[in-house]
Amino acid sequence: MAAERDSSPRRSEALTGSSKKSPRIVACPRCGASVPWVEESRFRPFCSAHCKRDDLGAWASDQYRIAAKEEEPFSDEAEFK
Ligand SMILES: [Zn+2]
Repeated sequence: MAAERDSSPRRSEALTGSSKKSPRIVACPRCGASVPWVEESRFRPFCSAHCKRDDLGAWASDQYRIAAKEEEPFSDEAEFK
């Protein structure tokens, strides 16, 4: 009786445990490294803080460049003409 009682919770535990053991793996958008999609991966989908900051920095500078480009029209040239 005791053995039968013990096997039931054990089985469900194994089921959830196996799904937890094989998390979804995503590729870091920055360097392509495999990143397990789990709570511990704080920088997902990036593999590390370095990759995350690097990507955000590139994004920000790219946006800034576009904004600066729009703010810097050919007014200078037009004034010269
Ligand atoms: Zn990375």
